[in-house]
Amino acid sequence: MNKILVTGGSGVVGHHLKELISNAVYLSSKDCDLTDINCVDSTIKIHKPDIVIHLAARVGGIQDNITKPAEYFDDNILMNTNIVKVCHKYSVKRFIGILSTCIYPDKVDSYPMTEDMLFHGPPTPTNFSYGYAKRALAVQIEAYNRQYDTCYNYVIPCNLYSEYDNFDNDKKMHFVTALLKKIKLSTNEIQLLGTGKPLRQFMYAGDLARVIKEMIDKDIYENFNIAYPYNHSINELAEKALESLQKNFYIKYSNPELDGQYRKDVSIEKMKKHFPDFQFTSFEEGIKKVYDKISF
Ligand code: NAP
Repeated sequence: MNKILVTGGSGVVGHHLKELISNAVYLSSKDCDLTDINCVDSTIKIHKPDIVIHLAARVGGIQDNITKPAEYFDDNILMNTNIVKVCHKYSVKRFIGILSTCIYPDKVDSYPMTEDMLFHGPPTPTNFSYGYAKRALAVQIEAYNRQYDTCYNYVIPCNLYSEYDNFDNDKKMHFVTALLKKIKLSTNEIQLLGTGKPLRQFMYAGDLARVIKEMIDKDIYENFNIAYPYNHSINELAEKALESLQKNFYIKYSNPELDGQYRKDVSIEKMKKHFPDFQFTSFEEGIKKVYDKISF
């Protein structure tokens, strides 16, 4: 039986993966700071995994990315570089890296974006350093496969939401998390930033964990996007959430300059070749599941 080690095991996706793969080693930054190569070396040497699922990353909201771009770059570059290098050193058979659709070019000529467009322009300025650091992981994996004949790969998931999201830390909050918090704390109205027009794909984080597990079970080594197959406007998402939670609230918008990218949807045609019958958790179902489990 393959020994699996998961970095970022204390994070959102790590929690979902634990529910599906219970016999793996799950690491947090307290077990091993991945920016420290000596720590990474001794950890991989001790555990001797056959498979490493690298979820760990410095992840944050727009504001934090804007104010600390150097920290986002350094931490992600170091974590990724160290873990891939050490996995190769100890002949880890399989390495799965996790990128993000928010590292795709800020603007392209046609949507949805396909995997070959990853380097077709700079990432959005608000998270350019996180974007370039994550893109470097794609380069590193490709370079190792070419030079050392490894079969490492990566997936590119869209924005996620989960009951394991941190509902207390406003700096790390994604749109859906903030939306659910507002709904929970309100009685008749929710206030959202921007115009409500931008289009977004939001996937239940448990779906990403299911795909990762199936990739291992079915020996799939390709790089591909993983995204909820519908691209809804922010306003549609808010309305869907209110409807599925049976809240008859008014939605108010402010600060139209804070819309962010208009669209950044990706194609899942490549994923569908390997997972033709994959059932995504519907947004309505996922929202209810998360909302029922959160308490603050
Ligand atoms: P998360 O909840 O923010 O968790 C991050 C994980 O990384 C935590 O376990 C954290 O450990 C660990 N970590 C951070 N710095 C570290 C360091 N220096 N050394 C070792 N571990 C460190 O992240 P997530 O939402 O589960 O995301 C998992 C992966 O999916 C990431 O690669 C992320 O870029 C990608 N992704 C996420 C989303 C999303 O919407 N969440 C969307 C697309 C892609 P501690 O708990 O000890 O701090």
